[in-house]
Amino acid sequence: MMNKTTISNKSISISKRQMGIYIHIPFCAKKCFYCDFLSAPADDETIKSYVEAIILEIKASHTETVVPVPTMFFGGGTPSIIDPTYISQIMEAVREQYEVESEAEITIECNPGTVSLKKLLAYKSAGINRISFGLQSADNIELRSIGRIHTYEQFQDSYEMARRAGFDNINIDLIAALPNQTTASWENTVRKVIDLEPEHISAYSLILEEGTKLYTVIEMERKNGMDRIPCEDNEREMYYLTNEMLGKAGYMHYEISNYSKPGYECRHNLSYWAPNHYIGFGIGAASYVNDVRYKNIEDINEYIKYLSQAEKIDLSKIQVEVNHLTIENKMEEFMFLGLRRIDGISIKDFYKRFGVRYDSIYGKQTKKFLEQELLVHSDDRIYLSQRGIDVSNSVMCEFLF
Ligand code: SF4
Repeated sequence: MMNKTTISNKSISISKRQMGIYIHIPFCAKKCFYCDFLSAPADDETIKSYVEAIILEIKASHTETVVPVPTMFFGGGTPSIIDPTYISQIMEAVREQYEVESEAEITIECNPGTVSLKKLLAYKSAGINRISFGLQSADNIELRSIGRIHTYEQFQDSYEMARRAGFDNINIDLIAALPNQTTASWENTVRKVIDLEPEHISAYSLILEEGTKLYTVIEMERKNGMDRIPCEDNEREMYYLTNEMLGKAGYMHYEISNYSKPGYECRHNLSYWAPNHYIGFGIGAASYVNDVRYKNIEDINEYIKYLSQAEKIDLSKIQVEVNHLTIENKMEEFMFLGLRRIDGISIKDFYKRFGVRYDSIYGKQTKKFLEQELLVHSDDRIYLSQRGIDVSNSVMCEFLF
C-alpha cells in the first residue's frame, strides 16, 4: 500500500511552457552483453513498489499552472516487460497532473518476445500511439552474440501483433558493426526491415562501453590478437549503405542515426535535440526544466524508500547533478544537439534564442569547417556535410567553450 503523503516540490519550478515527459522503466528479462543502460531483472514486488513510487513522483511534480505535454516516452529497460495495468496507472497519473495534448505522440519501447496482443491493446486504450521495437539485428547468430533474449522470428510475430492492434507508427531499432557482422549480413538486416515498412528506423553503430560483458570479452580477445568488431572503414561502409537503402525506400534521413517516412520523425527525440524542456520520472531519468538540467538518483531501493516513506515529498532529495545552465552552456547544447540533425541549426533561431549574432560567437570555427568542407552553409542553415558526419564528434567538440 502507498503511504498517505503530502506533496511538495517547488525546488525547480515548472512553467506553463510545453514539456515532454519521459518515464524510465528499468527492468529487463536479462542484461544484454553490450548494455550500459540503467536496467536489470527484478522481482514482482520490486516492480510494484517502483511503479507506486513513480506515481508518487509524478504527483509530487504537480504545478499550479497547466503544462501542455506534446510527447511522452516510456523507455528503459524494457517497459513492455511489466504488467500493462502499471503502464495505464502511470498514464492516468500523468493525465491528472499534466495536460497531455490530444495529438500527443506517446511511445513505448518494447522488446520482441515480451508483448502479446492483449498487452498491445491495453497500451492502445491507455493512449499510447507509437511502438519502438528493439530488434538490433535480423540475424539470430548476431542476436545471440550480443545476448538478446529474442530471435528474428519472435520479433516478426511481435511486429505483426502491433499492426493487428492498430499501431500505425512503429520504430525499429538496429545496431550496426556487431561482432563478426559483415556488410552483407547488415544489408540483409536492413532489407528485411525495409520490407516490413515501419514508419521509423533508428540505426546506431555499436559502442563498446567499458564495464559491459561484451567490452570485457572483446578487450581480452584483442589482447590475444583477435578482433571480431568490424573496423572503422567497414562501419562507415554499413552507414553509407544504410543511407542509400533507406533513401531509395523513401525514408528521410533526419538525424545522424534516425530515418523516417515523411511526417513520422520522432517528435519526442526532436524536442531533446532542439533542445526543448522535458521532465523525466523514475531512477536515473534526466530532466531539463526552466534551464536547469538534473537527473534522478540511480539507486532503486533508495528511490522507492524515499518516495514511499516521506511524509512530505521534496523531490530535490532524489535529484542529483543539478546544473543551472549558463548562456554559454545553452549555446553549446544548441550547437552540439542541433548539428546531429541532418538539416543542422538555424542562424536566425540562434539569434532569437540568445540575442547575439551567430558569427560573433562561432564565426571562427564555422569558417574553418566550411573551408574544410565538413560543414555546409545554405540560406539560414549550417549543417554537417557527409564527410563532416564521419568525423562529427571532433567537429562538434570545437563548438564547446
Ligand atoms: S533490453 Fe535494452 S535496456 Fe535491457 S539489457 Fe538489453 S539493451 Fe539493456
